[in-house]
Parts: sequence; structure tokens; C-alpha cells
Amino acid sequence: MAVGGCFCGKVRIEYSGQPLASALCHCLDCRKLTGGPYSFNFIVQTADLHVSGSPKEVPKTSDSGNAIKNYFCPDCGTPLYGLKIKPNGDRDETTVIRAGIFDNVRILHERTPVVEIYTEQRLKWLSPIEGADQFTGMLPLP
Ligand SMILES: [Zn+2]
Ligand SMILES: [Zn+2]
Repeated sequence: MAVGGCFCGKVRIEYSGQPLASALCHCLDCRKLTGGPYSFNFIVQTADLHVSGSPKEVPKTSDSGNAIKNYFCPDCGTPLYGLKIKPNGDRDETTVIRAGIFDNVRILHERTPVVEIYTEQRLKWLSPIEGADQFTGMLPLP
């Protein structure tokens, strides 16, 4: 069980089980929504994610053309997680959690990114993570 939450503490989240993957994303949207040079994410089963509090939902069409919803603390604005919305309106089976919100730093040390996406937009002073698969754009997900 991994637990985390936003900067002000009003939204808490946890997931059971193991993340499917850990990934860095260098896309422009991730830079904007995190305020950092890239996002560090855990991809988990949506069914394994439990949220307390009322995150603010922000819909947007991603660079890859998907309908995406991102969730933020309504008070302090911390980016929490995002997921794809299917054409029929259902939530995707996987959710992308912003890894920096977890309380236990050990989890972040242990989950070395296994993949980096949108590397075309990686800042020039950053090096690829050793051993992580590199994709210039979106990960070709099933
Ligand atoms: Zn907050
Ligand atoms: Zn991104």
C-alpha cells in the first residue's frame, strides 16, 4: 500500500498492489501541469486507486489527441493524477499518478523509471535514465 497526498493535506490518495510501470514524461503539458522540467509518474490500475477529498477535475485534449482528465487539489493546486477518457466516456483502466506526492521517499528511490516518453522535448541539460526505454513520443500502449 502506497499513500500520499497534496501539499496542504486536504486530498489523500493511496493505491494497493504494485504499479504497472514508472515513467518520466517530457511533454509540454506535463511541464505546465507540474511546474517542473518533466513529470515522474507511476502507472497503476484505476481500480487500485483510492482518493479521499475532492480533487478538481481539469479536462484537456492531449498532444496525442486523447481526451485526458487531470486532477488537482482544489485548495493548494498540487497535481495528483490523470487518466484517459475513452470515446464512450468511461475512465481508462490505468491511471497516471504524479509520483512526487507519495509520503514515503523510499518508494521513489525503488521505482527507477523504466520508460521515458516525449524525449524529443527533453531539456538539453537532462540525460536519459540508464536502462529506461526511450520513446520520442507517446508510449504505444495497447
Ligand atoms: Zn491540497
Ligand atoms: Zn506528459
